[in-house]
Amino acid sequence: MNTLTATLPLGAEPEPDPQRDAERTAIIDGLLQRGFPGMMFPVALEREFQQAGLEAKRAHIVKSGFISLLVFNVFLVADYLMLPDVFDLALTLRLLVFTPLALLFLLAFQSGRVRWLSQATPLGLEAIAMVSGLAAAAVLAFILMNSHSPLAYLYHIGFMVVITYGNIVQRMRFWYAVAFSLILLTLHVVGVWALPSFPERMMMPLMSMVLASAAFTLTANYALENDERRRFLLTERERGLIRSLTQTQVRLRELSRVDELTGLYNRRHFETAMQQLWQRASFGRTPMAILMIDVDHFKKFNDHYGHPAGDACLRQVCQVMKQTLSGQGVIVARFGGEEFIAAIPGLDEDASLALAEQVRAHVERCQIPHERSATSTVVTASLGLAWCEARPEMKVEHLLALADGALYDAKYQGRNRVCNQST
Ligand code: GH3
Ligand code: MG
Ligand code: MG
Repeated sequence: MNTLTATLPLGAEPEPDPQRDAERTAIIDGLLQRGFPGMMFPVALEREFQQAGLEAKRAHIVKSGFISLLVFNVFLVADYLMLPDVFDLALTLRLLVFTPLALLFLLAFQSGRVRWLSQATPLGLEAIAMVSGLAAAAVLAFILMNSHSPLAYLYHIGFMVVITYGNIVQRMRFWYAVAFSLILLTLHVVGVWALPSFPERMMMPLMSMVLASAAFTLTANYALENDERRRFLLTERERGLIRSLTQTQVRLRELSRVDELTGLYNRRHFETAMQQLWQRASFGRTPMAILMIDVDHFKKFNDHYGHPAGDACLRQVCQVMKQTLSGQGVIVARFGGEEFIAAIPGLDEDASLALAEQVRAHVERCQIPHERSATSTVVTASLGLAWCEARPEMKVEHLLALADGALYDAKYQGRNRVCNQST
């Protein structure tokens, strides 16, 4: 059973935490202002960033994987022209070993059916990109090691392609790209040193070209990741703003419906809610009662005990009404001053009257002293009840007027009582 009072439900939204939101916004703003030269956010935010990009990264690995595999095999033409002595080996390695394995992997990855692949973590995805690049470099190094072609040294240019693959095509996170580039540079240097036929004059130019390609692609990788991180921060900041706006909106709506002193709905909200309740009741021709409650001799109470004591008294009377009138669909509101109103659907006339009598008795039982009351030694209330079976041809204003009349009767007949009128 549930009374519609000031405690408004917020729906299924998670409990808003303005302090947490404010801290998060401060961190995000700080990062946007100062930048993040180390390509790393604070732990929790970093985790969110990695998770946010996971799906896109997964799709990118598959798409770029197929394209890169095709390019990888197109290099067979270069193998044929530059290293004819090991072409058979190159063909076997590229087309019969690497390609089927890579295809199998890519298709499994794409299907999403292999669990450890479809649930790969951000670190796992980096590892996949890194291993694919290193495997391609290993194939390159192995072919190179076995060739005696006079053009073998030029084959080292292939390392530049693999570096570009890791740093730009797969776009590993910056620090992984750095590690990847260092491994490839080491492979290249060892290759230069180990190749007996490497022309001395070509050492510097080739090594500096591979080094420059690593430096340039890493620079681009850094700039791209910087943009991606900044975009993430801006999106998160926007989300935070929308969240806080929504919270403010909910709070404002709540404030516009609720009376500040008592926490009950205010008159404006009552009138809107009443119309809806009435429509439902008149459509179903079900009973509806309006109860008006007025604290007796309240002006004298105020004059004698002071305004703050008057406020406290009103709060206590409200508490009694909330507790007594708790029932399915009942709307209780402050109508103005020391007057309150309730719309009670679904009870027959006797039950409504009994409920009104309970409210009266409970107010009296609070035993709030009222020395200046001509009715009693304690605070009392007069109540006017109007009851009807709702009908579409009838207006709810008529029922309200009847309740008002009944309240007048209660006052006139000596206060601290319930009077009723029905149609
Ligand atoms: P009756 O028994 O005929 O109802 O007389 P009454 O004195 O209760 O009614 P009246 O309308 O003459 O006075 C109502 C008083 O309620 C006047 C006003 O000072 C007081 N009042 C209205 N709103 C508030 C409020 O928010 N706080 C306090 N403390 N007093 C209020
Ligand atoms: Mg009054
Ligand atoms: Mg009064």
